Amino acid sequence: MKIVLEHLTKKFPARGKKGEEVTAVRDFTFEIPDGSLIGLLGPSGCGKSTALNLLCGLEAPTEGKIYFGDTDVTDMPPELRGVGMVFQNYALYPHLTVRQNILFPLENLKGKQKLSKEEMNRQAEKAAGLVQIQGLMDRKPRELSGGQQQRVAIARALVKTPNVLLLDEPLSNLDARLRLQTREEIRKIQQETRVTTVFVTHDQEEAMSISDQIVVMKDGIFMQMGRPQEVYDDPASLFVAKFLGNPPINVFKGEVQKETLWLGDQPVLSVRGVPDQPVTVGIRPEGFILTENGPFAASLSRVEVMGRDVSVISAHPCSENFSVRSIITAETPVDRDAGSVHFSLKPSKVFLFHRETGAR
Ligand code: ADP
Repeated sequence: MKIVLEHLTKKFPARGKKGEEVTAVRDFTFEIPDGSLIGLLGPSGCGKSTALNLLCGLEAPTEGKIYFGDTDVTDMPPELRGVGMVFQNYALYPHLTVRQNILFPLENLKGKQKLSKEEMNRQAEKAAGLVQIQGLMDRKPRELSGGQQQRVAIARALVKTPNVLLLDEPLSNLDARLRLQTREEIRKIQQETRVTTVFVTHDQEEAMSISDQIVVMKDGIFMQMGRPQEVYDDPASLFVAKFLGNPPINVFKGEVQKETLWLGDQPVLSVRGVPDQPVTVGIRPEGFILTENGPFAASLSRVEVMGRDVSVISAHPCSENFSVRSIITAETPVDRDAGSVHFSLKPSKVFLFHRETGAR
């Protein structure tokens, strides 16, 4: 089921500041395609949880509309929306078994929606099968690992065959290895069920790796939406460019003069059609090509071998934090004793931003 947000806004009275308001979600207008997995991404406090709570109906918007398919659900109570929700802390009932936890949403169905005991059990087994926990049905949550508890929470969210699945930082309580494994599983389950899924995270790698599209937010503001690779390759703002990518983008103060990008006294790239102006320059670590006499010159700090790739760390006076990280393949010979390194730049990996606004 597709989800449409129209001018969705949520304001809260600011905590501890009488009469002031916080806009947690500001004028969100976008569409989530049917059957897709969307990663809602941004730093802590940017409004991700609020956006999710608006979708499931735990919060009412201050302004705007939400549609599931063609149905306006803005004023519909949560239990009628057909959403499955998975919280960060799983929120399993500790005194119930896994089976009882998964059955719980079905037992609370009312009227026409009520199911027979057999049908409920069949649905519970099916949901358990999707996350492969059939063998754990008689255990209590405390007898499960974090990853297993997470799967139970997902099975419980799926058991009513929801229109929409919402996941709020579902991996943050898992250790690094389990996090990787579980995010693959979430992707797999989503592909099998094809349920429209919104996945909230502050971890850009997590969002990039499994989402069909990511939505990047900052301070309640919608910054950009698109396929992960598209947004990475074509960030609309310095904020998005800095937020996506590990290792992060290198940022410089630069100047465009006569269609040439200058970093200090180095003419590093020709930039056709760009008017003369001061700019902030973002260069992805993979945008540097070691080139003898290349126009980008920096003093070599150190070389870090990472297996397939090598990081060359250098210092450049125009860099935001002085240090520059470039990534090249391990086959490229680097003279570690040289005092300086020279690079040419891949134009597609260099972004120019307005010095004041940070916009492209
Ligand atoms: P995130 O999930 O990205 O960390 P939240 O949606 O939790 O962000 O919060 C967004 C902003 O709204 C924050 O400034 C937060 O303090 C504020 N906020 C969230 N919920 C409430 C509330 N119930 N009352 C007041 N302010 C809130």
